[in-house]
Amino acid sequence: MKKVLLLKFGELFLKGKNRREFIKLLKHNIVKKLSGFDFQLSETQGRLVISDYSELNEDEIVSKLQTVFGLIGVASAVEIDTSLEGIENEIKNIDLSGVKTFKVEVKRADKTFDMTSMELERHLGGVVLNLFPNLKVDLYNPELVLFVELRVNKKTYIYKSLLPCAGGLPLGSAGKALLLLSGGIDSPVAGYLMSKRGLRLEAVHFHSYPYTSVQAKEKVIELANLISKYCGEIKLHVVSFTEIQEQIHKNCDEEYMITIMRRIMMRIAERICHENDLGAIVTGESLGQVASQTMQSMTVTNSVVSLPVFRPVIAYDKEEIMSVAKKIGTYETSILPYEDCCTVFLPKNPVIRPTIRRAEYLEKNLDIENLINEALANEEIIEIKNY
Ligand code: ATP
Ligand code: MG
Repeated sequence: MKKVLLLKFGELFLKGKNRREFIKLLKHNIVKKLSGFDFQLSETQGRLVISDYSELNEDEIVSKLQTVFGLIGVASAVEIDTSLEGIENEIKNIDLSGVKTFKVEVKRADKTFDMTSMELERHLGGVVLNLFPNLKVDLYNPELVLFVELRVNKKTYIYKSLLPCAGGLPLGSAGKALLLLSGGIDSPVAGYLMSKRGLRLEAVHFHSYPYTSVQAKEKVIELANLISKYCGEIKLHVVSFTEIQEQIHKNCDEEYMITIMRRIMMRIAERICHENDLGAIVTGESLGQVASQTMQSMTVTNSVVSLPVFRPVIAYDKEEIMSVAKKIGTYETSILPYEDCCTVFLPKNPVIRPTIRRAEYLEKNLDIENLINEALANEEIIEIKNY
C-alpha cells in the first residue's frame, strides 16, 4: 500500500497529438509548480499520480495543485496492486466515523478484472455493511462516496473525496498574450480567465506619477503577484503615461480624452506585443460598465491595432467579476483606494459614442509616434514570480 495523490485532468475530447502535447505540458507545469518538494510524478492512462512525497507536505502540495490549470481534481488516495482481496482490505481500513449513508463508485479502466464495475460496487458495499451494520447505502444522495479506480497499470486507487482544481487548459497551451493591468477589480480577473484557457501572460501597467502615487504602482505589482499564483511568471512592463496624458489634456477635446488615451494605450500594447512575441491583448472591459466601454468606444480603440483583443469579462456583471476576484484572492487588494491613471484629468462628460474620424482628427494635434517611443524607452520591467 502506498499513499499517493491522484490527479484528474479535463477536456477529454482532446485527441491524438493534441492530447499528448496537453499532458506533456501539464506534467511540465506540475513539476515546475512543485519544485522545492521531493516527489515522483507518473502517468497511467487518463490519470497522473504523485507519489514518494513527505506526508507532512501533503496539504501544501494539494493546495498548489489546486492552482494548476488543466487539472480538474485531486484526491488523496491509497494505491495497491489490483486484487479483490487487496481492495477489500483497504476498504475495511477507511475511516467512516460520523457517516450514516454511503455508496461505492467503481471505475474499471482495467477490463481484464473479472467483475464488472457494478458487480464490484455491490460486493464492496456488502463488505462495508458487514463491518458497519448501522450504515446505509444511498445511491442518490450519499454522505460519502468511496471511489475505487482499477487502472490499466494493474494498480487500484481508493479514495473518499476529490478536491476541485482550477480546470481549464495547461498554461502555455494557447500561446502568450499581453494583459493591460490596472489597479482595478476587472483586469486581474480578465488575466486569470485568459490564463485559464492556456495563455501565458505578460502585463503592462500605465502610471501617471506624480499624479498617481507610488502606492498605486505597488498595488499593481501586488495584483500581478497574486494572479501569478495561477498564471505563472509574468513580465510586467511599467510604462509612464504622464507626458502622454498632459499632451492629450493640452491639445485634445476634453470629452475625447479617455478615447484617445485608450487608443494610445492600445498602440503601446501592440508595440510591446510585437517586441516580445505576444499574440493578443487582454483587457478587463465589460460592456456598458462605463462610457469608454460601449460598443462604439471599443470600435474606436480597436481600430488602431490589428492583434486580437480578448475581453473575457465583456458579458459579466460587476457582481460576477467580484465573485471571481474574491475566489482568486485579488479583491481585497483591488479595492484599496489608490487612483488609476485613467482617473487623472477625468473629463466630466466623456463621449459615449465616439467616432474613428473625430479621434483621428484630434490626434493630429499630437506627435503620437514620438510620445510612444519616449514612453517605451523609459519603461521599467519587473519580473513577477509567485508559485
Ligand atoms: P479595472 O477594474 O480592470 O481597472 P475598470 O472597470 O476600472 O477596469 P477602465 O478603467 O475603463 O475600467 O479600464 C478598462 C480596462 O483598460 C482595464 O480593465 C484594463 O485592462 C485597462 N486599463 C485601464 N487602466 C489601465 C492602466 N492604468 N494600465 C493598464 N491597463 C489599464
Ligand atoms: Mg480601472
